[in-house]
Amino acid sequence: MSKTEEVSTPAPKGNFIHQEIEKDLKEGKNGGAVLTRFPPEPNGYLHIGHAKSICLNFGIAEKYNGGCNLRFDDTNPTKEEVEYVESIKQDVRWLGFEWEGQEKYASDYFDQLFEWAVKLIKNGKAYVDDQSAEAIAAQKGTPTEPGVESEFRNRSVEENLDLFMRMRNGEFKEGERVLRAKIDMASPNMHMRDPIMYRIIHKSHHRTGNKWCIYPMYDFTHGQSDFIEGITHSICTLEFEVHRPLYNWFLDQILEGEPEPERRPRQIEFARLNLNYTVMSKRRLLELVQKGIVNGWDDPRMPTISGLRRRGYTPASIRMFAERVGVAKRDNIIDVALLEHCVREDLNKRAPRVNAVIDPVKLVLINYPEDKVEWMEAVNNPEDESQGTRQIPFTRELYIERNDFMENPPKKFFRLGPGREVRLKNGYIIKCEDYKKNENGEVEEIYCTYDPETRSGNDTTGKKVKGTLHWVSASHSLPAEVRLYDRLFMDEDPAGHKDKDFKEFLNPDSLNILTNCRVEPSLKDVKALDFFQFQRLGYFCVDPDSTPGHLVFNRTVPLKDTWAKMTKK
Ligand code: ATP
Ligand code: MG
Repeated sequence: MSKTEEVSTPAPKGNFIHQEIEKDLKEGKNGGAVLTRFPPEPNGYLHIGHAKSICLNFGIAEKYNGGCNLRFDDTNPTKEEVEYVESIKQDVRWLGFEWEGQEKYASDYFDQLFEWAVKLIKNGKAYVDDQSAEAIAAQKGTPTEPGVESEFRNRSVEENLDLFMRMRNGEFKEGERVLRAKIDMASPNMHMRDPIMYRIIHKSHHRTGNKWCIYPMYDFTHGQSDFIEGITHSICTLEFEVHRPLYNWFLDQILEGEPEPERRPRQIEFARLNLNYTVMSKRRLLELVQKGIVNGWDDPRMPTISGLRRRGYTPASIRMFAERVGVAKRDNIIDVALLEHCVREDLNKRAPRVNAVIDPVKLVLINYPEDKVEWMEAVNNPEDESQGTRQIPFTRELYIERNDFMENPPKKFFRLGPGREVRLKNGYIIKCEDYKKNENGEVEEIYCTYDPETRSGNDTTGKKVKGTLHWVSASHSLPAEVRLYDRLFMDEDPAGHKDKDFKEFLNPDSLNILTNCRVEPSLKDVKALDFFQFQRLGYFCVDPDSTPGHLVFNRTVPLKDTWAKMTKK
């Protein structure tokens, strides 16, 4: 893999897959139709890599006025669950896409696949092998050495048919027999060395129940499922390039003696998305969930779509990211800072600005009347006038961030310190007169005077100060819990170390829960996933755990943009 790549804006002509599709359209292939599919195996939740594939496939359908199927490649009943099917449907829809007709399942094609397997047996193109999986693997050879033919390879058609029916009827135990394609044990392509087509699994399937105890292998299912659905362009990741001759071989066999079909899927491969500072294999993500290292598939630290959603990522930001990483033919690693940049760009335009103090210290305006409340007008979003303004309460006792005050500030510290002046945003200019510490030596209260002539929007003094602080009213603000997240891993490629487990690189400080926060009263009725900019602190969204009596916010990203800095250089 190349090292972290700069992101190029996609060429106006579209990516190389678009160009191939346009060529096919120009040549009048498929009667001008374009039908793609997104084919997840329901054995885990979708992640950001899947999002790229979803955006690509559904994006092609939109661009060429075609369609995109959602098909569950559910050939392995040992790992698949209905929970995953439901989460996948939810995630695709949340990203803003709708599939063609009903969702499809490879398991709906089990009867047809079985018939085709029988056809191959009858044509002498498949045989039942009594060897164990280990023995078969040992005979596979290496890329430079041919494999060894099984002693069962030359069984008669009758015997093969009889054994295959008995496999289906449940007469054998798991692992006792498999059905293999009869291709070429000396092929330079290992996938062509008599690959397994069917294996015995005595387990009920989430859709077909106990109807089957033999299940087709992914490789005997995927290409034919595309063919059955009339998919014109089968877009997949690079590792499937070497499977392409096998898919074509299977199609040739099942079409043997049949008229040439109107459509035959054309497979085009692209490089999968890799992101630094995370892991993306479903096996590893499942391990994090099962071992309780994260709080479920939708933990906001996970690279899953459900995790990103809970973290506050918007569908638009993920689509923007997929567009910007583009489509490559060679593997590369994308910097997670680009993903963060995309969500900032989207939320900057859309997120209402509000005030929250996440590490509060009390500030008392000693010359401000005790019971007075002034409702100050505050702009909701300077990037979007249509979001209007709201009123925020200003009172004698306020909270500010603890780190906005220093007892002995250096010269360059433009915030608050003894004798110093700052502006309170949407408030007044204040001056620090004194402060009090508790028995632990922590600052407990800060005493200031305010200048009544400096009210924001109505300042007659022309006074200039260097710092502007955010604040909330002590009496009117609401208590809140705020969850701050950092990267889940401290290493750029946690799964890339030969002799180290990826879990050794977990970041012990990836979650920091602050329970003492205060937010402005306008946030009283927020709903799960509502998003905001907490001024000076970052973008935040309402966690689904939040209730009116116990507000909970997740930080999506801080305001500082390392990606923008990197690319400006
Ligand atoms: P598994 O390890 O279980 O095979 P998978 O990530 O390949 O996992 P699938 O459910 O088979 O998962 O993937 C569905 C689709 O998403 C496939 O077309 C696959 O090519 C695509 N896809 C998976 N991971 C990525 C990725 N990182 N980048 C782009 N596309 C991906
Ligand atoms: Mg896969």
